[in-house]
Amino acid sequence: MHTFSCVSYCIISLILEIKWQGVWFVTGTFDYDLVVIGGGSGGLACSKEAAQLGQKVAVLDYVEPSVKGTKWGIGGTCVNVGCIPKKLMHQAALLGTALKDAQKYGWQVPGTMAEAVQNHIRSLNWGHRTTLTAKNIVIATGGRPKYPTHVPGAIEHSITSDDIFWLKESPGKTLVVGASYVALECAGFLTGLGLDTTVMVRSVPLRGFDQQMAGLVTDYMEAYGTKFCWKSVPKRVAKLSCGKLQVTWTDRQTGQDQQDSFDSVLWAIGRAPETKTLNLEKVGIKLNKESGKILVGADESTSVPNIYAFGDIGEGRPELTPTAIKAGKLLARRLTGQSSELMNYDNVATTVFTPLEYGCVGLSEEEAESRHGKDSIEVYHAFYKPLEFTVAERDGSHCYIKVVCERGGDQRILGLHFTGPNAGEVTQGFAMGFRCGATMNHLKETVGIHPTCAEELTKVNISKRSGLDPTVTGC
Ligand code: NAP
Repeated sequence: MHTFSCVSYCIISLILEIKWQGVWFVTGTFDYDLVVIGGGSGGLACSKEAAQLGQKVAVLDYVEPSVKGTKWGIGGTCVNVGCIPKKLMHQAALLGTALKDAQKYGWQVPGTMAEAVQNHIRSLNWGHRTTLTAKNIVIATGGRPKYPTHVPGAIEHSITSDDIFWLKESPGKTLVVGASYVALECAGFLTGLGLDTTVMVRSVPLRGFDQQMAGLVTDYMEAYGTKFCWKSVPKRVAKLSCGKLQVTWTDRQTGQDQQDSFDSVLWAIGRAPETKTLNLEKVGIKLNKESGKILVGADESTSVPNIYAFGDIGEGRPELTPTAIKAGKLLARRLTGQSSELMNYDNVATTVFTPLEYGCVGLSEEEAESRHGKDSIEVYHAFYKPLEFTVAERDGSHCYIKVVCERGGDQRILGLHFTGPNAGEVTQGFAMGFRCGATMNHLKETVGIHPTCAEELTKVNISKRSGLDPTVTGC
């Protein structure tokens, strides 16, 4: 307990400093069982779980306004400037497409959209504004979008995902820099809302994901109006007298510089952990010097006893909300002695909410090949046409399923990939089968629900190796 007092002292200093700055405070008498620093999805899940288990808990939350001055309340990135507003904007964009489809189905509908997303987020802030009452300390402060350090004009003239959902006016013609989740999702809904949108890709889209699937996602986006600037890196951003932003970039294939003007430039080049302002090194908490993330053990322990860290600030952890929530709950249960169960970070399912959604669990084809060898895996695949695309005369050529399995035995599934409508809903169900060790035989034995897109997964039977045409033609 001696170490705990010492640590407490440092954290008290931290709290006093923050109180002195007049930003926020919690009186630090330290008669709490648990203090959670960070009121995002993970921090709140951990604190609520601990409180429900009879612990006295305090949550400390503070949001530094973005460079552009955007501020929000408790609830963290996911609720305020991440998953929730993103999914609502994605839905708004999908509804735009549905309105077009509706005409093919015989409907005649007038169109519009507005403040409903922000109002919903504000209601979530208030729903979470519960001051919970703190001996162990948990750090769950997440991350914030990065700005480039070497591009003149970037910080002054651009925005990030911290701002995009709270803009008072349309961003207009937008350049989105980056090609992973955040970039493609933002570019997808901006295009869907009718804006001229360009994505600047430095290397490949959705690096780390199955690259065939990533290609389908970006091909679909291109077909539906998003522009792509491939293999390009921004050089500078300048504000013109007309108010437009002139962006100069280098095409890495030709080495030539190019220019265009935009109303908004959105950087989506990754997220930096919120560890800098916490004085963690003073306390003795070890960080990865390169990433700035906290080094954590399998039980979320840091290098200092009684201080734990989880979620996006944990080194090597997936930056995903539901993962942080689950890890936080499990940590609370362990801290209260209710359980010794550790978080299993392997094979977490995820979905990219691009105009054509992409859901996956497990290994990409590339990763399966590199881990098991090309000859030891079998890849089953199928193109399918969602029923809802037919009357609407929508192109279904990017709707595709890939099941990567071991080649021998029962063919244990190593990775499952799906592009198409409601990919998140589809993938969630199959993720449980995957967690239970599903094999290709299990998949074949599963009877489909007709007519759905998810049933297409139960029908996949053509292997890539066979060379047969994987286009599904009917029931
Ligand atoms: P990310 O996954 O770290 O990807 C960063 C992207 O920016 C990459 O495409 C990278 O290109 C590019 N990039 C990095 N530095 C650059 C530079 N200086 N100039 C140009 N391009 C640059 O970041 P993210 O998309 O912001 O996502 C952050 C985290 O949020 C992810 O780990 C994800 O787990 C989470 N997230 C999840 C969801 C979801 O579950 N649906 C949605 C959004 C975010 P290279 O490939 O060339 O490095």
